[in-house]
Amino acid sequence: MQFLQEILSEHYLCDHCLGRQTASLLSGYSNKQRGFVIRTFIAFLVDSGEELKIKKTNFYGINFRFVKLKPEKEECYLCNGLFEKLEEKAKKIIDKIKDYEFSTFLVGTNPPNELMNREVEFWEKYGIEWAESINTEINREIGKIISKITGKDLDRKTPDITILYDFNKKRITFLVRSIFIFGRYQKFSRKMPQCNWRTRIYKKSVQSVIEKPLLKQTNGEKTSFHGEGREDVDVRCLGWRPFVIEVINPKKRKVDLKKLLKEINKNKYVKVKDLKIVDRSVVKQLKAAKPDKTYRAIITFSKPLKDLSKLKSLEGTIINQQTPIRVLQRRADMLRKRKVKKIRYKLLSNKKLQLIVRAQSGLYIKELIHGDNGRTKPNIQELLNNKVKNIELDVIKIHE
Ligand SMILES: [Zn+2]
Repeated sequence: MQFLQEILSEHYLCDHCLGRQTASLLSGYSNKQRGFVIRTFIAFLVDSGEELKIKKTNFYGINFRFVKLKPEKEECYLCNGLFEKLEEKAKKIIDKIKDYEFSTFLVGTNPPNELMNREVEFWEKYGIEWAESINTEINREIGKIISKITGKDLDRKTPDITILYDFNKKRITFLVRSIFIFGRYQKFSRKMPQCNWRTRIYKKSVQSVIEKPLLKQTNGEKTSFHGEGREDVDVRCLGWRPFVIEVINPKKRKVDLKKLLKEINKNKYVKVKDLKIVDRSVVKQLKAAKPDKTYRAIITFSKPLKDLSKLKSLEGTIINQQTPIRVLQRRADMLRKRKVKKIRYKLLSNKKLQLIVRAQSGLYIKELIHGDNGRTKPNIQELLNNKVKNIELDVIKIHE
């Protein structure tokens, strides 16, 4: 342990910084404890009469029996006394996040660059191999203090709140983990989009109905809506469509799901069920899911209908669809092939037909019906040689 004596002959180090130089030796001790033990042991040797060259300030506060020493206090060479100020920093952090409800947290810091650089030079000079970085210790110690004061737990994997203290910029920033709620919805309106980005035209969306009571409960900033696919604005969704709504920057984390369900379901046009708290991974699962869907279409044609049995030929057929003209603006023009799995029909009047279609995920049903100027083949308008005048479409089942 020659290097410890060398260090202490030239510099004063606090217990944290002294102990940290031996951090990977033994286990179960804090750096502060290591530093205390090393310093005290050397003081024993000095008091017993050994002639060791140690910078006197390292013995500040130690009472010798036989050696006459009255050491002055000095600031630690490696941390400039930072460890003594950690409690004060921790309190600043706690004050900054006081409006947020959380049960777990993680804290990271950017220590002063000057100290990081000094430490690296120090290791090189003394050939130190067992040290840990000041960064690691500051993070751990400040975390311990916050945990002690607030009673909240540290969590490295999925903390409710992640705090960054930047010593260089003297700035505290933090990130609050979103709350994710899974559910299934129905939509009974033909004038309602799924997401908020279209509410400039339509007053309400499925998202806006669901988020309103949710944001009230969580005091969140906004929400993000992830549906397992989506129906058009003018299509009702009578089958239950799975979704996850994400509350961004929530101040409160406890959600009363029963109350939420009740409040959402007061709305005439949107109903939800099966609400539960989930984690972020469920969003990915939703996006990856490719369930079949069953639709009901009420179609009005321009001429009286005949030869309806031709419709049966669509069952089991692969439909070739060029990206529909109506979505070309936001989607690449490409050919997609999707299967019609089942088709049933019923004549409602001489020009009106009810169609029940089960289709592979991703088939554009309106285009299957009217043909989209020949971009979808085969299609019902062509098959029946009868121009489609109107389509009322509902999603009646999502086959999860
Ligand atoms: Zn120190």
